[in-house]
Amino acid sequence: MMQINVIVSITAAMMGAVTALVQQEPAKASKATVIKAGRLIDTRGGRVLTDQHIVIEGERVVRVGPAGEVDVPAGADRIDLSGATVLPGLIDAHTHVLLQGDITQADYDEQLLKESIPYRTIRATVAAKTALMNGFTAIRDLETEGAMYADADLKQAIHRGIIPGPRMFVSTRALSATGMYPLLGYSWELKVPEGVQVVDGPDEIRKAVREQVKHGADWIKFYCDRKYYLEDGKLRSKVNFTAEEITAIVDEAHRLDRRVAAHAMGRDGIMAALRAGADSIEHGDGLDDETIDLMVQKGVYWCPTIYVGVYVAEGRAAAGASVWKTMVDLERQAFGLAVKKGVKIAYGTDAGGYVWTENQAKEFAYMVRYGQTPMQAIQSATTVAAELLQAGKDLGAIEPGKFADLVAVSGNPLEKIDELEHVKFVMKGGKVVRDDLIHPR
Ligand SMILES: [Zn+2]
Repeated sequence: MMQINVIVSITAAMMGAVTALVQQEPAKASKATVIKAGRLIDTRGGRVLTDQHIVIEGERVVRVGPAGEVDVPAGADRIDLSGATVLPGLIDAHTHVLLQGDITQADYDEQLLKESIPYRTIRATVAAKTALMNGFTAIRDLETEGAMYADADLKQAIHRGIIPGPRMFVSTRALSATGMYPLLGYSWELKVPEGVQVVDGPDEIRKAVREQVKHGADWIKFYCDRKYYLEDGKLRSKVNFTAEEITAIVDEAHRLDRRVAAHAMGRDGIMAALRAGADSIEHGDGLDDETIDLMVQKGVYWCPTIYVGVYVAEGRAAAGASVWKTMVDLERQAFGLAVKKGVKIAYGTDAGGYVWTENQAKEFAYMVRYGQTPMQAIQSATTVAAELLQAGKDLGAIEPGKFADLVAVSGNPLEKIDELEHVKFVMKGGKVVRDDLIHPR
């Protein structure tokens, strides 16, 4: 009986917490808004529509169609984007808001050794706002690099309207095995911070996955490989876990309805992750015919993160790892092949791996230069990324029922893809968060 009472009161307390959470959400706009879009990119249809009206009520789109044919409620607020191109809010499926660039090991170690987690989290609030202002209304943040569960806190603060930022899908700590991930190379007498949750053996792995889910992980991220090297023109690598361990990561995550992102750069790491059933391959510079075919067959997504590879190559080569320069060429070849063979490519930048003052939209121009059409590149950052996040019903297109997450640029990104580096208008959940077009700053 006492136990039942306890359960009842805990349940009541939890209900209270849920109510509090709902009440703390930003007040919904009660009035309808209509956006006049000169050009509207229909990401699901892969086409451009002209002179469209988008009707928004609260945080969602309710109607979209040609001006004059769409029922616009009397007294609706009007936003005139008739001289602009409107497209869905962009999604970056690989970010690190808690990292501020790490070309060299020293850059990385500095942040973990000299910056407290609260300090890093304060900096992350700026990164989150930057992503939103760049037009990225949703991000999948792929591990905190030693900042524990601070990503889950950021996600909550954004959701409650305390700070501005994109919708966050978080992975908390990431997993790697003993001795396979920084910080490394310090005296054994010192206890230094870890950039990941260190786990060895299937039992520890399953427990870590459970802990991360308990503390808010939407995704499980693990580092599948390291020590990249070239052999017969292929990018090879050392795999961090045994096959049994990788299977335990994927199995436990899937059992708890979480998906798995595998950092895998060399062909060995990519193959190990694919065999175990990972859901996305991150970086994947060493993808070749065989691994690409396997990805297509298994429906695995690829986040190429091209720009970060280019950005860090010189610095890492200068620090003694010349393989990073070759990886830029290899990734270009892999990208062309993956486009040809129909791999599901989700837009992912690794922003945070480079400084947040670099616009993460620079990735688009590389994707087009490497073989995608501008429409395909935009779909990577909208419909495809939304599917990867299993959020296709809410994100990725401007359609009735979906969140009113949208951006506008003044030119036509289908003719000039780098227009996306100059987003002028951002709306998230029906609220305007940037409006340089209407009210130039
Ligand atoms: Zn990363």
